[in-house]
Amino acid sequence: MSASTLTKPSSKSLPVAGIIPFSATDWPGNITLTVFTQGCPLRCVYCHNPNLQPLTHGALSFDTALDQAATRRALLDGIVISGGEPTLSSGLGPAIAKAHQEGFAVGLHTCGYSPAAIRRLLQSPDTTPDWVGLDIKALPDDMEYVIQRPAHIGNRCWESMHLFDEAGVDMQVRTTIFADSPLEHHLSTLAEKVEGYGHELVIQHARAADGSPFVLH
Ligand code: SF4
Repeated sequence: MSASTLTKPSSKSLPVAGIIPFSATDWPGNITLTVFTQGCPLRCVYCHNPNLQPLTHGALSFDTALDQAATRRALLDGIVISGGEPTLSSGLGPAIAKAHQEGFAVGLHTCGYSPAAIRRLLQSPDTTPDWVGLDIKALPDDMEYVIQRPAHIGNRCWESMHLFDEAGVDMQVRTTIFADSPLEHHLSTLAEKVEGYGHELVIQHARAADGSPFVLH
């Protein structure tokens, strides 16, 4: 980040639906304040947070999250911006820049929905996340089953992975599976494909809202 090039970015347009003041699970090895953005273009079959899907204004602002982070700065390693899908919002770049300006490292969770938005983020160190958790929803043939949207939307993740790699951004690539699904049956093929990009695939297990293993009825 080059503080000298920063010019009072506005982060007001990043729609924030919720804030977790402390999280030990959103950025491996780090304690973070985690922000959940409002709006998601996918309809994952296992989504247990469908209230984050509508493209509405968030109830909170990113500035509120920054204010909260500032009060516990010594306890935090950084801020994670999660979703929903953060790359939907043009407020993402200014929000990352403002967090950097305030001295926070920034992690980003994304499904890689918008390579165009990611390209814009990567144009400046100010708006480049310090770490990315990239969700690969499925192999191309299983994508539509998982995201319940046209497959090409989810398949943008591969281009996004390439962009982050090209920019040298530290990244965890993960996928979410549940029992007796195509995801589970084709897991080794997906892991091989991700390995072909130079990443180890991290497996997450889908959970229902009450924390129990997700089951598709
Ligand atoms: S990416 Fe999928 S699981 Fe995450 S909020 Fe969107 S629909 Fe839900």
